[in-house]
Amino acid sequence: MNRWIKNIGFLLFCFLLVSSSSFGQLPDAPPSPGPDARYKADIMVMVAHPDDESLIASFLAREAIDGHKRIAVTFGTCGNSGGNTVGYEQAASLCAVREIEARRALASLGITNVWFLGGVDTAHQSPLISLETWNHGAALERAVRYVRLTEPDVIITWLPDYADGENHGDHQASSVIANEAFDMAGNPLVFPEQVTASYNHMLIGNLTEGLRPWQPKKIYFFTNATHHDWLKGQGPVYSAMTVSPSRHIPYYELGATELSYHQTQEDAGPEGREAVYKSALNYFKHPVQFILGKSLVGGTRTGDIFEGITPGPIPYHASPGYQPQSHEGVALELGGPYLFYQRFWKAYGLEHLASLYPPEAGVGPGMGISVPLIIRNDTDSAAKVSLTATYPTGWKEESGSAIYPVAAHNTYPIRAIFTAPAGTRPVWQEISFKAAVDGKTLGSVTLRVSNTPSGPVATLRR
Ligand SMILES: [Zn+2]
Repeated sequence: MNRWIKNIGFLLFCFLLVSSSSFGQLPDAPPSPGPDARYKADIMVMVAHPDDESLIASFLAREAIDGHKRIAVTFGTCGNSGGNTVGYEQAASLCAVREIEARRALASLGITNVWFLGGVDTAHQSPLISLETWNHGAALERAVRYVRLTEPDVIITWLPDYADGENHGDHQASSVIANEAFDMAGNPLVFPEQVTASYNHMLIGNLTEGLRPWQPKKIYFFTNATHHDWLKGQGPVYSAMTVSPSRHIPYYELGATELSYHQTQEDAGPEGREAVYKSALNYFKHPVQFILGKSLVGGTRTGDIFEGITPGPIPYHASPGYQPQSHEGVALELGGPYLFYQRFWKAYGLEHLASLYPPEAGVGPGMGISVPLIIRNDTDSAAKVSLTATYPTGWKEESGSAIYPVAAHNTYPIRAIFTAPAGTRPVWQEISFKAAVDGKTLGSVTLRVSNTPSGPVATLRR
């Protein structure tokens, strides 16, 4: 009898053991944390230098203060070169000063999530040179990290195009990187170490980053090009004259206040920030005009920046990518940044930028200009190609026109150099080039040149 009871007891024990592991007695796993909400951004501004953001500061004031939008800013450099109107600090010390100026400026609008890509100021007009000095890969990796961390719906950056007045290589480089990050952050195979999480987020020793892929929804551009006739209708416009409902002053005053913190870059004088503020007020009365780069969520070109945007993620959108072009015969094309952008726009779905205005450059009175050209020979035999330039009266051609030996299936890069006349001249003039073999013209290109002095020194600031 006792043995019988013992057996029943043992069977009951086994039943309870099995049922406890089969019917809801599993321990609860801890919740899996979502993205860190403190860093979520509705807008990510990606620009080159501290004070670049000031160009759109009245708009940022509107969105941050009254639109209650979360805004993050990423700078390509800390602004380590250029004049210092406050003191002797230069180079690395100026970098340290300007990083804080940028943080204080943005904090005046309530914007505190601010990052830097680690690039150095590069006084040149080619984005390719800035990408080289910034260590393109390292800067892009940081940019993609900040997009994944902040998960912005909208990215705002400089116009990725070479224009008179907007040809600072750093500005252009920050735009190239912003566009690349827009198209790459949603791809888990781009910097995959960033999107690999530890299995237990509490464990120390997580050597990967634990971010999530993120596809931004829209990208907009702004520019300080000296001519604006082509801007109309390219994107939304925001008045700076509107009075902030909460601050009871117009947005242009908030914009001028934001700029006033960049004292080392402005002629502050003994009055300090107040002087900067007063001298900038009129400038900030101009509306802020954007150019729509692309939208993955529809909406109209000139509609509000947030038109079509709803909360939550959208699927990864692959950009068209680079597609090789087939070439035949002998041809002539603009090289350098011009050729780069022709390819870049196609690869990143921005082809509409090609029709905004023709290839151009700014050349002040008496200044020199270097025009990058490429002769292509896609035939099976070497060619002697005659390059001739046509340019306005008063200009001087230093180099360029010559007979170039171009090997079969090869290219010959050229820098044609001109000096502009010292006196006044028309706003726009043209320099044209023609390539010929045996007297037969096989290609031509034209660059329009303005008489605005926009060399690297003139455009280093802002
Ligand atoms: Zn700048």
